[in-house]
Amino acid sequence: MKERKMKTLKMKDWGLGLGKHVVIAGPCSVETEKQLEELCNSFEREPQIGMFRGGVWKPRTRPGNFEGLGEEALPWLQEVKNRLKIPVCIEVANTAHVEAALKHGIDVLWIGARTTVNPFSVQEIADSLRGVDIPVMVKNPINPDLALWVGALERMYDAGLNKLAAIHRGFADPYDKTYRNKPNWNLAMQLKLELPEIEIINDPSHIGGKSEMIKDISQRALNFGMDGLMIETHPNPQEAWSDARQQVTPEQLLTILKEISFKDKID
Ligand code: PEP
Ligand code: MN
Repeated sequence: MKERKMKTLKMKDWGLGLGKHVVIAGPCSVETEKQLEELCNSFEREPQIGMFRGGVWKPRTRPGNFEGLGEEALPWLQEVKNRLKIPVCIEVANTAHVEAALKHGIDVLWIGARTTVNPFSVQEIADSLRGVDIPVMVKNPINPDLALWVGALERMYDAGLNKLAAIHRGFADPYDKTYRNKPNWNLAMQLKLELPEIEIINDPSHIGGKSEMIKDISQRALNFGMDGLMIETHPNPQEAWSDARQQVTPEQLLTILKEISFKDKID
């Protein structure tokens, strides 16, 4: 692979008020206005929450499950942004999603694991963002292929985007059911070696697949020097329309954040 030097901005320099370690919280899927209101009530005056997430187009592996509310939910996220005064982020998987996200003032986009595997999709999204100043976070692909992950970030960079981050959400491993998506800390560290300027956020929710695993995975990620956490949070996880088993309540999230140490970074 040819040597690449990317000059990207750290999350604290994205102009969004993000701190050194970024905590991203919010539901797997945006479901109702009430759901978001309840989360806002819990997150108001919680300076630790740096960014709000909410899926509006949900990539479901098999059909017949809730696939997200789509554009209709985007004004509700704007409301969250107005109330909490923090940036909001969503997943985009095609150029129509990008167009809608930009129209509705979404602050940060992320590319999902099922999109990162496809260079054509990644390139189309990158091309649709040419000339747009918006941060993009790229989740690792479903399979442990470092080049696909690096390549997706390079495609974004080559389209002129310089506010980039990676998200480690683990890798499919049909032979090890300990995790929903097995973490590969070594591969995540290799990404840091290939692209030293890119910060990595850890997604313990999709790695563990169970709410009780989130604390330990988060601590592990921070010990490896990861730069932030994305944790799926729902006012009533058992009732969630997607990923019910892995979401935590806001109260559980705040307890986890209190109990983990952000300081034991190996730099
Ligand atoms: C999500 O963040 O809700 C999601 C679908 O994630 P992933 O792309 O990691 O499966
Ligand atoms: Mn999810």
